[in-house]
Amino acid sequence: MLKIDLHIHTVASGHAHNTILEYMNQAKKLKMKAIGISDHGPNVADAIISELYFRTLRQIPRKIGGLLIFKGIEANIINENGDIDISDGTIESLDYVMANFHKNTDYQDRGKKLNTEVILKTIKSGKVNIISHPFLTKSFNIDIKRMSEEACKNNVLLELNLYYLSKSKNNPDIIPNIKIMVDVVKQYKKKFIIGSDAHNIWELADDSSLKAIKKQIGLTDNLIINNYPQELFKLLKIS
Ligand SMILES: [Zn+2]
Ligand SMILES: [Zn+2]
Repeated sequence: MLKIDLHIHTVASGHAHNTILEYMNQAKKLKMKAIGISDHGPNVADAIISELYFRTLRQIPRKIGGLLIFKGIEANIINENGDIDISDGTIESLDYVMANFHKNTDYQDRGKKLNTEVILKTIKSGKVNIISHPFLTKSFNIDIKRMSEEACKNNVLLELNLYYLSKSKNNPDIIPNIKIMVDVVKQYKKKFIIGSDAHNIWELADDSSLKAIKKQIGLTDNLIINNYPQELFKLLKIS
């Protein structure tokens, strides 16, 4: 089980099923060190969430009964400039920002070449700390190698997303994409972040899908920043 999990969706995302309090209680049961709330940004069709939700997250205490609570977002890339669906002021109020393309947003798939240019702009913007599920090229194809290199150069973490890893049998691109990412991350002497993408408390911190393929993808514990809390917090500038 992960001790730190920064990819968590609450009921505020509209299609997840637990509250912050329920995640906190589950995290305490699992003896976790930190969780991060990362609901979807507002630019999704049928979203019930607004930017105000993210701005007010800071009112929740940083530490509750020994558990660290970080406040973030899983933002959507919304245009060809690589912009995301949240203002700079709100980004400032949050501990971290994850982002990637998502379906049912203002950005429609533009094909591999342009998608790659767009995500490179997002990475270079300095507004994003983590690329969520970067290996997912089915709906938005990108040049994985170029994206990984740019992320490493800009200290943007690449996420190994446990939810989609558990579905990797249905998507033959995932494992080859991860192998490319692992090579680049090793070359640049960087680390991955592991996130569960939990949409309910039973998915929180569950890394069984990664354990099953760890050897196959050449991933070792020293490449996982969740194992180095101080390094992670320093990188995200959170304490
Ligand atoms: Zn996502
Ligand atoms: Zn997510």
